[in-house]
Amino acid sequence: MRGLNNRSVLVTGAARGIGLATAERFAEEGAQVLLVDLAESLELTGALAERGTYKCIDVTSADGRAAIETLIDERDIDVLVNNAGITRDAVSWKLDADNWQKVIDVNLTAVFMLSQAMAKSLRARKKEGVILNAASVVAHYGNFGQSNYVATKAGVIGLTKTMSKELGRFGIRVNAVAPGFIATDMVAKMPDEVLDGMRGKAPLSRLGEPSEIAAAYAFLASDDAKFISGATLNVDGGLVLG
Ligand code: NAP
Repeated sequence: MRGLNNRSVLVTGAARGIGLATAERFAEEGAQVLLVDLAESLELTGALAERGTYKCIDVTSADGRAAIETLIDERDIDVLVNNAGITRDAVSWKLDADNWQKVIDVNLTAVFMLSQAMAKSLRARKKEGVILNAASVVAHYGNFGQSNYVATKAGVIGLTKTMSKELGRFGIRVNAVAPGFIATDMVAKMPDEVLDGMRGKAPLSRLGEPSEIAAAYAFLASDDAKFISGATLNVDGGLVLG
């Protein structure tokens, strides 16, 4: 894809799943990639062995976010991928306040705080750049047992639209990717009958692969997407059609 070679990219939640596949894809495109996650350490292989750096940082902690702000400046980050996300599922009338707040903290507050840090840094460096956020197709139609998660993903879509309006004049594009059900550890926690139902509803009749979401992030970060901002790209095998 055009314009990714030698770009500097930061991916959160990058130790596994969609985040790791995204970091790998950017490195394969020739970008320098900074991977952030909770794991103490991470062995980097393939293109990441040459072009990746891993940092153990919690995106919900004030210290962690301060460290990321410094790294955004020091590493001249061009592309931020706010991928880190968690689930804490329970039907809304049984969901406790702690599990409401934890999901808000990772999936929404950290996305806002890191996007704000990225925008401030790009403005100070007088650079254009790209912010990409992890939404989900469930933001469009709700999902049983996921009131906390769906609220954050719908919030991410609203935040993406708003920041794209505010930052477009500075050449900063802001977009979201809304995956359907993708074969990662997050989805492995779901009951088989739920996943079978999802396969049945999607016109492509299967779960997605992390690399298929990574391709969407790479496209949206590239110059091939330089007139796309404020968009939420569904990558879901057609699931959202119902
Ligand atoms: P995953 O396999 O669970 O990986 C998420 C990664 O984020 C994990 O390595 C996790 O670390 C890390 N993380 C969690 N909290 C963090 C924190 N506070 N600071 C830094 N890193 C943190 O998830 P995934 O399936 O790849 O999903 C990635 C993103 O796509 C999420 O935002 C998710 O909501 C979204 N998404 C996924 C699907 C899907 O079907 N998989 C569908 C729609 C949207 P730990 O392992 O230590 O917790």
